Amino acid sequence: MSRVWIAGGRVLDPASGIDRVADVVIEDGRIGAVGSGVEVSGAEKVDATGCWVTPGFVDLHAHLREPGQEYKEDIASGGRSAVAGGFTLVCCMANTQPVNDDPAVTDYILDRARNDSPARVLPIAAATKGLEGKIMTEMAALQRAGAVAFSDDGHTIMDGAVMRRVLEYARMIGAPVSVHAEDRHLVGQGVVNEGPASTRLGLPGNPAAAETVLVARDLLLAELTGAHLHVGHVSTAGAVDLIRAARERGVHVTAEVTPHHLALTEDATLGYDTNTKMAPPLRSKADVEACRRALAEGVIDAIATDHAPHAPHEKDVEFTAAPPGVLGFETAYAVVMDLVRAGEISPIELVARLSTGPARVFRQPYGSLAKGAVADVAILDPDREWLYDPLKGYSKSHNSPWAGGTLRGRPVVTLVGGRIVYDVERGVVAP
Ligand SMILES: [Zn+2]
Repeated sequence: MSRVWIAGGRVLDPASGIDRVADVVIEDGRIGAVGSGVEVSGAEKVDATGCWVTPGFVDLHAHLREPGQEYKEDIASGGRSAVAGGFTLVCCMANTQPVNDDPAVTDYILDRARNDSPARVLPIAAATKGLEGKIMTEMAALQRAGAVAFSDDGHTIMDGAVMRRVLEYARMIGAPVSVHAEDRHLVGQGVVNEGPASTRLGLPGNPAAAETVLVARDLLLAELTGAHLHVGHVSTAGAVDLIRAARERGVHVTAEVTPHHLALTEDATLGYDTNTKMAPPLRSKADVEACRRALAEGVIDAIATDHAPHAPHEKDVEFTAAPPGVLGFETAYAVVMDLVRAGEISPIELVARLSTGPARVFRQPYGSLAKGAVADVAILDPDREWLYDPLKGYSKSHNSPWAGGTLRGRPVVTLVGGRIVYDVERGVVAP
């Protein structure tokens, strides 16, 4: 029997409500016991004194770029970057080349993940063929192949009738539909939030209403169909209010927010740094505050990275020409720890939004340190200060607004299925 003994850490398990200093014993890939003063023989011991011991993080929204854009990222590099950030399960979006709208692509991703990624990887399949918003994919076949949800992320299904059919079919097969809610016509050429920042920068603005309008439509369609709508990367106070109201009247809706939309306002774009260009864009202070509050309240279930690698030659262009998106895995924990330090959310609630919450959204059997649970575990040093240099990270790309900054809070050990796959001193150690 293989045993790992994680000793002396602050165990934070939202699934069982535990928040106390204890030892965690892992036996043959599963949680054996959580307790104090346990005597463990023949175990690999990990000293977690001063650290948090939590379920591994679950990311509902990442771009691993394989197949087709391996110069930006691939499943191996993305998986390494994920475990270095404490993520043990990553759900990857369908906007690859070819698009994941065919079970053969879903199979390919799962096969690559099994062989090359230290993190678990589960594919999200496209809702419509070619992400064109016109013809539904064969959702049941994609689900049988292993797709955990459906999304045209990067694009919005602008035709309400198509969206309704997608939701009806998803409900029938019991799958969530994750949406990138931005009205393409309202976005227009917008590249930053419409408001003072777009005026000062002299760049076309993307109004908050572009998101809010689509969230309103999709909530109404979720209510009409009874489907499970998951709102991706919420960025506006208006969307938060609509989601809160829909939840209160019983609509099956869940939501996620990214670390960058929790931490940065549109002011970050004022230097024309293309590493502050995202879709949806960084918003106003009031929007950021609304998202932070909604996360703390649980109106937003999950923190999702929207990890979106782009090569230097793509980002190193003028603001309007650069593709939107930033890296997410390795900085996520440090960035969102700011909410704990500001007293806006408790440690166990933050851990819930990173692990138990997202696992529940996509109905995955992870995000728990209960006896018998799969031993996907993150050990986190909440106070460790470190200089973030993306060149020393695991992603193939380096596009991060936090590049060169000193961050506080760092994952130090990550275990997947009871096996240590990352250690801050040794780096990624498997596969
Ligand atoms: Zn998106």
